[in-house]
Amino acid sequence: MPLAIHLFIHFSLAVFVGYYFGRRFKRLWLGIVFGILGGFLIDLDHVLEYFFFYGPHFNFTYFIQSRQFLLSDKIKIFFHAWEYFPLLLLIAWLFRQKQILKMIFLTLAFAGLVHLITDVIINGYSLRYYSITYRALHHFSAPELLSPADYQRNLDYKQELGI
Ligand SMILES: [Zn+2]
Repeated sequence: MPLAIHLFIHFSLAVFVGYYFGRRFKRLWLGIVFGILGGFLIDLDHVLEYFFFYGPHFNFTYFIQSRQFLLSDKIKIFFHAWEYFPLLLLIAWLFRQKQILKMIFLTLAFAGLVHLITDVIINGYSLRYYSITYRALHHFSAPELLSPADYQRNLDYKQELGI
């Protein structure tokens, strides 16, 4: 699937989740903003990981090629984790008397959850791949986390790029 369509699906679902909670709590635009934050801008962890690897030099082509993942052989993607869902629900519950905060954390929780489910379906990765505990237990190591076929695809791509 082309990246643009993948991102468009994330964006649409993020707006939808935000719209739902925004309507329910009568804070439509705030809901949509946090829907986009939790369901779309969650992918900014890929950018973060780029800077961890390359430092403050941004090269858009390298980024699109996912060179930070290919060269480091690590997959951290810190924002992609099922673990945040119960945590955010708990925070929403703690703020149950404050409607706006309750809405914000519920929206972040569900927008993020929908994003991860979409990633599992589109990328074809296992459910455990999106557990940060699981990734940490495997030292965030790409050869350990990816299936042999997926890792081989990385190696082929590296060869193709000459890196
Ligand atoms: Zn994602």
